[in-house]
Amino acid sequence: MCAKVVLTADQGSFTSYSGVSTLGYVACMPARLVPRILMDKVFTPPQESDRRGEALRAPYALRKIEAALHYGGIDDVIVSPPGDLERVVGEDTKVLGISVHDPYGMSPVSTKLTMIFGGGPSWTAEFFSELSQKVSQLKKKYGFKVFVGGPAAWQIGMNRPEWVDLVFNGEAEEDLPGLVLMGIEGKDLPRNFTGKNPPVSKIPKIIKPSRFGEVQVTRGCPRGCQFCSITPETFRSIPMEDILEEVKLNLNSGEKSIELLTDDILLYGSQRLVTNHDAVVNLFSSVRKAGAEQIYFPHISSPAVLDSPRTVMELSEIAEYHKYRAEAPVVGLESGSERILRKYMNGKPFPWKPADWKNVILDSTPILNDAYITPCYTMTVGFEDETDEDVEQSIDLVQSIIDNRYRAWIFPLAVIPMTSSRLRGKPFPMIDKLPGKYWELLYIAWSYDLKMSREMLPEMTKRMGNSVSRHIVNLMTDRIFSRIGGIFKELAESHGQKAYEFSDINLNSTIGFLKSIYWLGLASISGS
Ligand code: SF4
Repeated sequence: MCAKVVLTADQGSFTSYSGVSTLGYVACMPARLVPRILMDKVFTPPQESDRRGEALRAPYALRKIEAALHYGGIDDVIVSPPGDLERVVGEDTKVLGISVHDPYGMSPVSTKLTMIFGGGPSWTAEFFSELSQKVSQLKKKYGFKVFVGGPAAWQIGMNRPEWVDLVFNGEAEEDLPGLVLMGIEGKDLPRNFTGKNPPVSKIPKIIKPSRFGEVQVTRGCPRGCQFCSITPETFRSIPMEDILEEVKLNLNSGEKSIELLTDDILLYGSQRLVTNHDAVVNLFSSVRKAGAEQIYFPHISSPAVLDSPRTVMELSEIAEYHKYRAEAPVVGLESGSERILRKYMNGKPFPWKPADWKNVILDSTPILNDAYITPCYTMTVGFEDETDEDVEQSIDLVQSIIDNRYRAWIFPLAVIPMTSSRLRGKPFPMIDKLPGKYWELLYIAWSYDLKMSREMLPEMTKRMGNSVSRHIVNLMTDRIFSRIGGIFKELAESHGQKAYEFSDINLNSTIGFLKSIYWLGLASISGS
């Protein structure tokens, strides 16, 4: 008997990235530049499943949907990796739900990496295309309804495949169960639906283990940047009892570390963007007491760090970041231009002003470093009215980080006018339209990133369970990064025109395949 409702995602999202989530960024590279064998074995290996085809651990978003359906009275649900679809989908299947993260390679990271390396589909787009073919064939055979939702549902809205019945935007808990019931009963469905934001009391707890021990602690962000799809009115903190139940469920399943999902860990329990020291410290100590050996979080914001350095130090002590020095959350640095900040992200520096932004960054970075945290700074470049003068100010800020020798990665990304953000309708970035200075910024940042990666990656990859994969990643990073350094220099000198010359490189060709075998072999010899 097959499940009535099947939930899945493409291989670029339904994976544990060999234990290091940052390796997921490799899937944003043009597919022709990263051999398939390395994606399957190292960067995005398929998630394990049981004999029935059910994932042992699944991305948190799918687990949350599964829980919402469960509490909505729908229990015949299975969460399965894409490779198991043929086994779990059958005559009884009425609804197939797909969570999408970057189906057409239009996310900021994919856009940047495909643009500067000569174009072509990213691995994220390739994986979605593979899933697309599979779903289309299965749908023809069994006639189920297909729902697509998730953070990149906006991309599907821009180019809708014919096999999609319903594109679901927004949060799922309030409205999705009713729509799935309609799908099960064969009723007519709306083509598009935007879900309401539930109060925390209506956000159900997951009922099966999530990948990386992921547990959500906040939803939304009050800062209101225009390029971001997260709106100020959506901010909520999840109650401690619910968090701890999910933490225990993951730990009881054998997970050792917990990843606290949030857009800013220092927002936990806050009101009006004032850090709630006690709530954050209580969160970390409770998770630790529950038995988590390691605690990670994906995002933190610079103004909050500067607002409450003692909170940062205390959470670092509780999580013992000094032991493994691998905490590297994404932090929005965005721009060094006061004008750009004021116009597009006025609330970002709160409680400081856009004019203070440079100091906020330069004063908060050493606080993070003292707490053994290495920020992955992301920058947004290419607003339609951005000039070389604005980028010059961004270069000045980045250069100050470098001159101070702060530990940080810096990634200048092209701004994407997501249809779910307030920049919808603006043009997408193109090489010839970016400010000329962007390429200089990219080169300076990349050179520093290379230095950081050489220092930090051996520490970070200690989390990888498989020593062969660990060696491959470290070896490849060193070799590939060394070569890429020259590429960024040429891009800077040619104002990006050099990118067009990279479009002929294809490492999925025979020679690329042989190189991959060589890397795998070399790594397994030296890694065993
Ligand atoms: S601070 Fe980050 S999460 Fe919050 S609105 Fe701005 S970009 Fe989005």
